[in-house]
Order: sequence, then C-alpha cells, then structure tokens
Amino acid sequence: MDALPSRSFTPAVGDLPFTAQQRSLLALADELGRTRFAPRAASWDESASFPFANYEDLRAAGLLALCVPRDHGGGGADYATYMMVAAEIGRHCGVTALTWNMHICSTMWTGVLADGIPMTDAQRAEHALRRELHFSRVVNQGAIYAQPFSEGSAAAAGRAPFGTTARKVEGGWRINGRKIFASLSGAANYYGVLCTEDKGDEKPDARDTLYLAVPATSEGFAISGDWNPLGMRGTVSRNLTFTDVLVSDDEQLMPRGVYYKGAQTWPAMFFTLAPTYLGIANAAYDFTVSYLRGEVPGEPPVRRRMYPTKQIAVAQMRIQLENLKSIFVRAIQEASPNPTPDQKMRLYAAQYTVMEGANDIARLAIRTCGGQSMMKHLPLERLYRDSRCGALMLPWTAELVLDRMGRETLYQPGERDD
Ligand SMILES: Cc1cc2nc3c(=O)[nH]c(=O)nc-3n(C[C@H](O)[C@H](O)[C@H](O)COP(=O)(O)OP(=O)(O)OC[C@H]3O[C@@H](n4cnc5c(N)ncnc54)[C@H](O)[C@@H]3O)c2cc1C
Repeated sequence: MDALPSRSFTPAVGDLPFTAQQRSLLALADELGRTRFAPRAASWDESASFPFANYEDLRAAGLLALCVPRDHGGGGADYATYMMVAAEIGRHCGVTALTWNMHICSTMWTGVLADGIPMTDAQRAEHALRRELHFSRVVNQGAIYAQPFSEGSAAAAGRAPFGTTARKVEGGWRINGRKIFASLSGAANYYGVLCTEDKGDEKPDARDTLYLAVPATSEGFAISGDWNPLGMRGTVSRNLTFTDVLVSDDEQLMPRGVYYKGAQTWPAMFFTLAPTYLGIANAAYDFTVSYLRGEVPGEPPVRRRMYPTKQIAVAQMRIQLENLKSIFVRAIQEASPNPTPDQKMRLYAAQYTVMEGANDIARLAIRTCGGQSMMKHLPLERLYRDSRCGALMLPWTAELVLDRMGRETLYQPGERDD
C-alpha cells in the first residue's frame, strides 16, 4: 500500500490532521474511486450484479486485508482509519463500500475490536489460534467474507436470539437456518454467520450467540431468491439457507459467548455502515456543485447558478454535509470499548444524522439541479436510490436509533414503570 502521487482533494470526512498511513490510504481510495470504481458504478446498478472487477482492484491494492493486524501480514488499520477510507470509497461507489464493509468487519471484529473485548486467558488463546486461519485466508488467498446476520425476525435488531442454530458435534458445528439480505451472496468465499448455540431443550439465549464462518463450498449451503431492489443493487443481497451444514471448530470467528459481550462492549461496531452513506452524501453535493457550474463532462452548459435559490440550496446542502462530517468524525475519534453513556448517545446520533442526512442531501441535490439531472446517464438518481437504504440497515435503523436514544435517556439500566 504505497502512497500514490497525490492530487489535491478534500477527503469525504473533511480535512483532518491525518496520520501518514491515513493520508496514503485516502490518496489510494481517491485514485481507485475516481479512475476505476466511479466509471463502473452504473453498470453494477443497471444489472444488479456484484462489482467483481472492483474487488480485483481492492485485492491488488491490499485493501481486502486493510484491517488484518500487521503481524498477520495485513494493513494494520485501526477503526477510525477504516471508517475514513470507507467514506472515500463510498463517494465513488456505494455498493463497493457497503459490501467491502461486510468483508472488513469480519477481520476488524476478530482483530482490533476483539482485542478490546474481555476474554478469559483460555478464550484469548483459542481466539489467537483461530483468527490466524481467517487472517491468512484473506492475506494469502485474497478470500472474501460476507456478514449475513439478518433473518427477518427481531434478532438482527438485537431483540431476540438468532433463529439460525448451531449444534455442537464432534470436531465442529452443525448449522441449520436461513438468512435474508446477505450482501456478497455468490461472491464471498466465506459467510460469517451469527447463530444461536442449540443446547437441546433449553430456551434459546442471545448470550449463546456464535459467530461462525461457513465456506461457500459447504454441503447443505444454498443461495436463493431474486434480487431486484430500489438501491444498492450491486450488493446482491440474496437469501441463504443452511441445512445440516457441518463446519469444523476452526471456523469459529470468536470463542463461545464472546460475540454477545463484544456487541455490548463495542457498540461502535454497528456504526461501520455509516461511512458508505457519508461518501454518498459527499458525492451528491460534489455533483450538484459541478452541475450548477456547468462542469459535468458531456453535459450542455447549465445556466442556473445565478439564481439566489440555487445558491441558497447549495449553501444549505453544504451546511448539512458539514454537520454530517463533524458528528461522524467525532464519533470515530472517540470510538472505543465501553463508551460513556454520553459517547453512546453521540454514536446513535451520528448514525441517525448520517443515514437520514445522506438521503436528504441526495433529495436536495435532485430538487436543486432539476429534471435533466435525474436522467439515467448521470449518477444522481442512483445516489438518491442508494442513499435511501442507509436508514433501513439493522440493528441501527433510523427508527431503532430513535427508540434506543429515547429509552436510554429516560430510563436507567434496569429501571421500570410499575
Ligand atoms: C442494500 C442492503 C444490504 C444489506 N446487506 C445485509 C448484509 O450483508 N447482512 C445482513 O445481515 N443484513 C443486510 N441487510 C439487511 C438489513 O440490515 C435489515 O435486516 C433489513 O433491511 C431489514 O428489513 P426488514 O424488512 O426485515 O425489516 P424489519 O425487521 O421488518 O423492520 C422494518 C422496520 O421496523 C423497525 N423495527 C424492526 N424491529 C423493530 C423492533 N424490535 N422494535 C421497533 N422497531 C423495529 C425498523 O426501523 C425497521 O427498519 C441489507 C439491507 C439492505 C437494504
């Protein structure tokens, strides 16, 4: 990951006192995004097909291993660095950023985040051994991991145990169940599945959540269903079924019981979908400025910028974008295990602001640029459709964030109205 010749540009997260590694990675993301990902973005959208060519580029640039620790041969990027780079990629191709997030999380949760989750010495030793296998698949084989959690129940919202189950068998686990909305379906080599340990007759308990990697070649594993959504079409998020799928103990991405603790210790792990949408918000703003300045390549001159309404709209979009960037940056800078209640509130607020704000900026962009700007040969209508998806992503949909913020403000843990 050498630094590329840099051009002058303002990163999607804004100008910050970046480290040398961050600066170099942002230049790399900018270069790949502008020259490779942006020109291809319309084709994935049109055919609702996975951006395989972009993954070749990510792999060649070492970006599939970005968050694998350095001593395992990866890029050693921390949480904040990943979030900055993801926003830059999202600026040029939302589906690449969003699916890359699913892959990166499997290395970040098992890597830098797991380091901050309490474990016994035995669990820590087991985890060190097992993650070695997963990291080496990513570093040496360029493997891609998906992150299918959603089931259409209350589980992905964190309100019920996962219905997909894993039963302990000699040397491994037997998995049964179904997942929906599995981005990277058909593209991933491994599917990092959240499931509940089936302990026989006992009542399923979310504390028994297991995080297991299912190889795409496993017997009993199948992908089904159509994929023809409004936006984020290139994510190819189809259904998965697991029928008596056997995986070995080595496929445990976290020791038993650790995922549940991790979700409580590291709430910022659920904020990693946001940078994609911050990138999209930047793209909608960038397009609007270029369009009104008559600088969109191949488009006739647009003589509209002299109208005060256009100038005010651009100013309003910029104010909103600066708000998104500010709260996003604050949240990634203070992301850590065991945040204070105030930091947690800010994290929720950042998620809400980015997910709803991105769609609002895209809406304003179309209103301001006008009818000719939403033709299919221009990116704005795709940005608008893609931006609509952010607030729907569990566990922190816009609605659920409001729900959590209100409840956690008005009730102390364990407090009830009798
Ligand atoms: C483009 C795209 C890619 C995706 N990729 C992945 C992926 O790779 N992996 C993955 O696991 N998932 C993925 N998802 C799924 C996503 O995270 C959600 O699970 C999915 O959008 C939920 O859809 P649903 O209709 O089942 O929502 P429902 O669960 O029916 O929820 C509908 C709405 O009701 C609200 N709600 C839900 N539960 C509660 C509750 N308990 N209390 C109050 N309100 C509630 C929420 O606001 C939610 O938006 C993806 C989704 C999209 C759109």
